[in-house]
Amino acid sequence: MSDVTDRLDAIQERWNASSFPPYSPQGDIALLLDLARKQQAALDAVRALHALDDEGDCTHCGDFFCDTRKAEYPCPTIRALDGDDA
Ligand SMILES: [Zn+2]
Repeated sequence: MSDVTDRLDAIQERWNASSFPPYSPQGDIALLLDLARKQQAALDAVRALHALDDEGDCTHCGDFFCDTRKAEYPCPTIRALDGDDA
């Protein structure tokens, strides 16, 4: 579980304890929280797949590239997730 997942749980708890009449956007908020949770789970899965190994390489990319520069951690996938130049 990531820090974002913990934060989403806290937002969900605060939202469940609140009410804002007359407009009741609970359905919208529930949809957005569900979407954010699914997206975060996908990001966490990608980060777990592209983890740092004991040799300083990406555990996934190191299996597919002969050029070791492409396997160095962080690999292009992790740099893209972090918003760095790939
Ligand atoms: Zn990788």
